[in-house]
Amino acid sequence: MAAWKWERVGSIWGVGRNYADHAAEMNAPVPKRPLVFLKSAGTLIPAKGTKSQIRLPKIESEIHHELELALLLGKGLKVIGYALALDLTARDIQAEAKKKGEPWTLAKSFIGACPVGPVQEFQGWSAFSQLEFRLTVDGHVRQHGKANQMIFNGPNLVKYLRSHFPVRPGDMILTGTPQGVGPLVKGDRVLAQILGPVPVDWTIKIS
Ligand code: ZN
Repeated sequence: MAAWKWERVGSIWGVGRNYADHAAEMNAPVPKRPLVFLKSAGTLIPAKGTKSQIRLPKIESEIHHELELALLLGKGLKVIGYALALDLTARDIQAEAKKKGEPWTLAKSFIGACPVGPVQEFQGWSAFSQLEFRLTVDGHVRQHGKANQMIFNGPNLVKYLRSHFPVRPGDMILTGTPQGVGPLVKGDRVLAQILGPVPVDWTIKIS
């Protein structure tokens, strides 16, 4: 998709627990309204073609993968594209923050926390809801989700965000992760895929 410029991304709106199976694995209740958090635009690492190289941060925490579908907003806040994204999360820092009621910023917005795959042109909500995506680490499938399993679907997320936050053209929405989140370590070879209707293969080397 030629029109998309990563340097124009202003805010990255993250949505927590938007898949029931992931809320269950975190021993957390399914939210009654979208659970929104922010990652700074500086966390973005756009893929080069279909490949990314990720350097794990030097913070002392387990860095977990959360594979998600990202929505890309254009003029008039219309969704113009989508991509796979890794909402990298410093899990033990997040767990401590949850316990103490502190913000998630360090857990979610550290340097390099948002690698994004190749951008696809948005073909409407009906096509989007059919997307199926999967994360494989060293040949083992860790996460597998379908867009139609979201608790708050794409149109509802856009509507909710627009009515509560200063969402702007160029912003990105991370729509939540299915179950199977887990640690990434140096040397992992990660394959993130959209299985259909328009297949995407995105490979990520962890160093
Ligand atoms: Zn997430």
